[in-house]
Amino acid sequence: MTTTLSPLPMILDEVEVVSVERLSTSFVRVELGGPALADFGIDGPVYDQRIKLVLPGDSGTVPLFVGDESWYATWLDQPAEERGHMRTYTIREVRGSGLDTRLVVDVVLHLAEGATGPGSRWAAAARPGDRLVLLAPRRGVPFGGIEFVPGPARHLLLVGDETAVPAISSILECLPEGARGAAYLEVPHADDVLDVDGPLGVEVVWLPREGAPVGELLHAAVVSHLGVPAPVPATDVEVDPDLWETPTYSSSGEPLTGGGVAAGPHPDLYAWIAGESGVVTRLRRHLVRDLGIDRRQVAFMGYWRRGVAMRS
Ligand SMILES: Cc1cc2nc3c(=O)[nH]c(=O)nc-3n(C[C@H](O)[C@H](O)[C@H](O)COP(=O)(O)OP(=O)(O)OC[C@H]3O[C@@H](n4cnc5c(N)ncnc54)[C@H](O)[C@@H]3O)c2cc1C
Repeated sequence: MTTTLSPLPMILDEVEVVSVERLSTSFVRVELGGPALADFGIDGPVYDQRIKLVLPGDSGTVPLFVGDESWYATWLDQPAEERGHMRTYTIREVRGSGLDTRLVVDVVLHLAEGATGPGSRWAAAARPGDRLVLLAPRRGVPFGGIEFVPGPARHLLLVGDETAVPAISSILECLPEGARGAAYLEVPHADDVLDVDGPLGVEVVWLPREGAPVGELLHAAVVSHLGVPAPVPATDVEVDPDLWETPTYSSSGEPLTGGGVAAGPHPDLYAWIAGESGVVTRLRRHLVRDLGIDRRQVAFMGYWRRGVAMRS
């Protein structure tokens, strides 16, 4: 079994950490490079393109994959300490081209939560030269993994906690100059407020929580943005740990809405909301159930779940 420049429809190959930069208390920026990235490519803007990193396990060796369609099953069959940990991240930036292509990933360190995981631990210790496996789009082959699809909406609402900061920052940088709307970003600390470029018509509001409960500031900001007095967010809602509700996919099995013109209040709105699943679930309830916003206008994504390790 070898890690190889495979004939698979996506890149599944070893890459190397080229540089590491501690951006703030909670963010580590890791730049990944390697010959396999010469085949990297997306048909259109990067937006919130997700990728997978497969990080070494306790054995310390780089996880191995076969280069055929059994890659996932055969990887899962390996002992846990050798197969390592597969985690989902966002491409924050693409640098260089050809053999010098590098992907930048901003990883959140969640040590302060009293809970940590392999992704956070790996980033905290990452050094140039470290090796890992990357799963990413191969040029010319559909890969999926971009959920930002605003259609004809004229007012954008981008909402996320620190895990969605890389995605929202990338989306902002990809937007046309005339885009209008607002982005609300909740981060653990004031020094986690990062530089981000975007169209002048999209207001960027950072919400450092500084010890406040995760999602509290975000919920109040979104409710107020939509013009309704902020009620106390309900905490008793049932949380879908795999929450993923977009116009084209429903983790709860709700009927998909398909295309067509959205009805109800805020007909010009497109909302992209990602972060801790409980926080996103409560926002979803408010937008869809309380305010009656059409599901065609929203993408709700649970990026992590308090107390639950990500499944590979
Ligand atoms: C599409 C998508 C894109 C994502 N993009 C990014 C990205 O660009 N950067 C990024 O850092 N994350 C991103 N995430 C979130 C990331 O995948 C999760 O936070 C993941 O759980 C991290 O893995 P881990 O090994 O550190 O922790 P896990 O092993 O999954 O979890 C261990 C423990 O840590 C807790 N935990 C996990 N994440 C956090 C957190 N952020 N804060 C506090 N506690 C936490 C869990 O609740 C659990 O108790 C993305 C997720 C998705 C689905």
